[in-house]
Amino acid sequence: MDSSKSNESTTSGLQDRNSAVDDEEQPELCPGFKDVDVFVKYGLGAVLSATKASAGLPQAGDEYDFYRSFPGFQEFCESQGDKLLHCMSQIMQHHGCRSHMRDRNKLTGLEERFDLVVDSNDVILERAGILLDEAEGVNRSQQPVMPAGFQPPKIVVSSWNRKGSGSGIRSEMFRLLHAKNVARPQLKFKEKVDNSNTPFVPKIFIKPNAVKPLPTYFTNKKIRKERPEDLDVPAALADFIHQQRTQEHVDDMFAHPYQYELDHLTIPESLLSKPEIQASCSNLMHDPCSFVDALEDLVALNEKLCKLSEFAVDLEHHSYRSFLGLTCLMQISTREEDFIVDTLELRNEMYILNEAFTDPAIVKVFHGSDSDIEWLQRDFGVYVVNLFDTHQASRALNLARHSLDHLLKHFCNVDADKRYQLADWRIRPLPDEMVQYAQTDTHYLLYIYDCMRAQLLDFNHGQPGLLQSVWNKSKDISLKKYVKPIYTEESYLELQRKQKKSFNTQQLTAFRLLFAWRDKLARQEDESTGYVLPTHMMSKISEELPKEPQGIIACCNPVPPLVRQQVNELHLLVQQAREMPLLKVRKDEVMLFGPHDTSRVSESDLHRFSPGGNQLLYVNAITNLFIFFLLKETETKNDQKSLSVAQMKSIGIIESFENPFRMYLPSSDVHINKNSKFDPSSKIFEVIKRLHMFVSISSLIFFYFTILFYMLLSTEERNKDKQGYQESLQNVATVRQQAESAKGGGKKRERVASEVGETTPKSSMKLMKLPEKPQTDLPPQDSFTPFDYSQSALRVFAGAKLKDNAQFDPNRQTHDFKKKKISKGQKSNFGAGNRSMSYLAGKSDRGFRHNWPKR
Ligand code: AMP
Ligand code: ZN
Ligand code: MN
Repeated sequence: MDSSKSNESTTSGLQDRNSAVDDEEQPELCPGFKDVDVFVKYGLGAVLSATKASAGLPQAGDEYDFYRSFPGFQEFCESQGDKLLHCMSQIMQHHGCRSHMRDRNKLTGLEERFDLVVDSNDVILERAGILLDEAEGVNRSQQPVMPAGFQPPKIVVSSWNRKGSGSGIRSEMFRLLHAKNVARPQLKFKEKVDNSNTPFVPKIFIKPNAVKPLPTYFTNKKIRKERPEDLDVPAALADFIHQQRTQEHVDDMFAHPYQYELDHLTIPESLLSKPEIQASCSNLMHDPCSFVDALEDLVALNEKLCKLSEFAVDLEHHSYRSFLGLTCLMQISTREEDFIVDTLELRNEMYILNEAFTDPAIVKVFHGSDSDIEWLQRDFGVYVVNLFDTHQASRALNLARHSLDHLLKHFCNVDADKRYQLADWRIRPLPDEMVQYAQTDTHYLLYIYDCMRAQLLDFNHGQPGLLQSVWNKSKDISLKKYVKPIYTEESYLELQRKQKKSFNTQQLTAFRLLFAWRDKLARQEDESTGYVLPTHMMSKISEELPKEPQGIIACCNPVPPLVRQQVNELHLLVQQAREMPLLKVRKDEVMLFGPHDTSRVSESDLHRFSPGGNQLLYVNAITNLFIFFLLKETETKNDQKSLSVAQMKSIGIIESFENPFRMYLPSSDVHINKNSKFDPSSKIFEVIKRLHMFVSISSLIFFYFTILFYMLLSTEERNKDKQGYQESLQNVATVRQQAESAKGGGKKRERVASEVGETTPKSSMKLMKLPEKPQTDLPPQDSFTPFDYSQSALRVFAGAKLKDNAQFDPNRQTHDFKKKKISKGQKSNFGAGNRSMSYLAGKSDRGFRHNWPKR
């Protein structure tokens, strides 16, 4: 895009919008563009097609390497690359940013350019913000980015919603994306949001349409509500009691409440045969749209829905000013009517709808329901039985695109305007434009559902196979379980890896400390981590390690309110990091998992592990050995005396690594909630990562020790160990699968994980995090010593003294684990921490929190 054009769009674009109200006769915004809308539409289209095109480029790795072997391709790439860089540096220059991009000799790495782009984006966004503010001042009766006719609410709820200056006359200004003055809906919630670092437990307490009754854990308010801190006993005792109480419910606590019903759901013949297509009214305005924000209306709506055989649903969500996110709106369309439910107002009552939503005789049509299913569980305890997802249908039909707007165009010839998708849906009263947008999202969906079913049958020559597969895929989605972001001591590494920066030990420490600070504060204040401190700023502070608090402020533009408020605390953290011995960490070391990281790689990548080159085989072997040591360790833990020479040596070897590499291991200065002992995100996933980190740092030395170790073994022991090694080899595959499955989060994979959970190393790893107090059903051989969870995972790897049995007794817990089948409910939570870490609710990184289905 031409830079001068882009500039005009930020400045005069606004004015254009502002004055459009009183002056219809606007000169062209710039040649070829009538007004901002036209310009923005054009720009968005251009960006979209560029994004698409870039996604279509050969992927890094084999495909790219292959293409690169053609000189023509190489030349083309280089010339296009130059062009792009030139264009970017022009834009940056235009905005007065650092733009050494044109001076390319000075820049060696992609990384630095990437930083430049991030910085420039900040500058540009900041400028846009300033201009918007200016626009407000100059012309305060108009609200630049709000839909016309929107009346700001008169009541400003809390101090952080209040405008500075204290001028009551000044009209409030709202922004669509980052509306500053929207009252925090959380304040009105009857039940406080649970941001604690503990796994999510379903909110359900009555289960309509149950075939299998709801476990007592959920029906018995006493067990459920009584939190340890509510008990009138010392904290430690309260904790213990609570733990004992919940222990027997662990199985239920993490299961999908409608698992049984969904497993036994069969789609009736009638839904697998040719449907009668019922047209939706093509004019939205002709259909009544009811706004539901009172309990009696919700009850009435539920009654209405219960009489139907299908209805369509969609949700709107907000994630910037909340830690977990808020479901703000629910749209429901029947064949006759549209409803918009204010789910902020009725949050506590939404569970009523379970009666219709879990009725297997009523089809619920969603489009791209992956997130909706999770949000329904998280905020309302609502589940869906008998789901039809038109996104899945679109995939099965192999349509050109699978977004809702495409379906609307394709089937209904409606041009949907997805502009409001990312609007701040907390705004009340809802502006008409947003109501209309929301209504459109479900209004045509039942008609599309009819058409798609017909096409799915036609496509398959009248056979129901394809249609059935869509029902099945939809069912898989409804089986998804909400997973809360869990903070673990390693979470920061995952995010750091994405920064593509090589950090020295001090910088890495700063990053770790800031990350922990941010997570803690975000949970406490119920803000997104992106709101507390955007990742790029966190990265910048870590990189620069400012000596003064002012330096921290200077790294942030604009300065996040909580950073300003706590700049002294931040400064202390940075100072703490500066006290670390300074060591340069090679990129492939810090980026630990680099090529070996199982957390992000695709299945095809994983295959490279096994058959691959010597290097990988060797890495593999060492990993396996490590796991083998660990398994051995966990097997014989109760009885230290029975340790074989080999095991003693393995401990020795592991211990020998403690000092030099200690710094790469997480420290204890983090806030892990003790309740996270049920934390499913522990531990094998981290273990694998740690192993790879370990290997990449120390593979040579380790290899040396390994050889030594084997030479020292007696033949008999060697044979014995060989067997163990073989076992561990088998286990490793499962471990990978699990890491993979945790990432994928797909229901099928989850099931696999749960089935193997009892025997895989995951369970033994988990043990390290499990109960801090001895279980009543455990062999009572040990005296009770509280277990420090913040240390738990790393001790084994750091080579901590493993002899204090009372603190770490994997065998015992394996035992317990098997009994309780904890893995069942936990597998999907596994890896949750990493997910949260990739969550940056801010602008640029929205994409990675969920794999947004194409809408
Ligand atoms: P939709 O199903 O398209 O109505 O989207 C529902 C909600 O998902 C919206 O209110 C947004 O909060 C969120 N959302 C949808 N698409 C995206 C996206 N590409 N990035 C971030 N959030 C999104
Ligand atoms: Zn949706
Ligand atoms: Mn929607």
